[in-house]
Amino acid sequence: MKRLVLATRNRGKIIEINSLLSGLVDQISSITDFTDFPETVEDGATFEENALKKAREASRFTALPALADDSGLVVDALNGRPGVFSARYAGEGAGDAANNARLVEECLNIPDERRQAAFVCVLAFVTPEGVEKLFSGRVAGRIISEPRGNGGFGYDPFFLVDGFDRSMAELSLAEKNSISHRAEAFRKFRKYLETMK
Ligand code: IMP
Repeated sequence: MKRLVLATRNRGKIIEINSLLSGLVDQISSITDFTDFPETVEDGATFEENALKKAREASRFTALPALADDSGLVVDALNGRPGVFSARYAGEGAGDAANNARLVEECLNIPDERRQAAFVCVLAFVTPEGVEKLFSGRVAGRIISEPRGNGGFGYDPFFLVDGFDRSMAELSLAEKNSISHRAEAFRKFRKYLETMK
């Protein structure tokens, strides 16, 4: 693929996605490279809706194929919360510490055997010709009440990964990138791009 625009302003994500798609796209830009790109309101009820909305707006504005992602933590016993509100669980502009404190508080009365959760990532790919594709990834685990590890970001220290006796924040970056929800969604997207070559 010749050109792809990423519907994100997050520098960390732009760098990460460049490496995840290396060799498959000639030129990757982001909406930060386009002046006057309007702010997308993430008001969807699902990760799919939010990712699609971001990708559609980016593709329409730039007239290029666009890729958007939406991700978050889903806790079964909390009816799927924080879900699409993961980034602002403790309120608009809340940081990781406040969001994690709210998570721990909400899980206070949930017994160990009912603490199943998952990180979910959905990618939406939209082209000006009308192609719309979704790719998703998921990693299962359990919520713990005491933080473990210093790696990763967000809810990682409170997420014990299934099949590992470690939290997501105790995995090396390479380990996280081989099992994460984001990695799985990107593997599927890469495969799709390879078939388009
Ligand atoms: P967004 O996809 O940038 O909207 O991120 C949503 C939110 O989900 C982040 O702010 C984090 O709180 C959470 N989240 C998404 N992926 C991860 C992860 O890999 N580890 C920990 N938290 C995550």
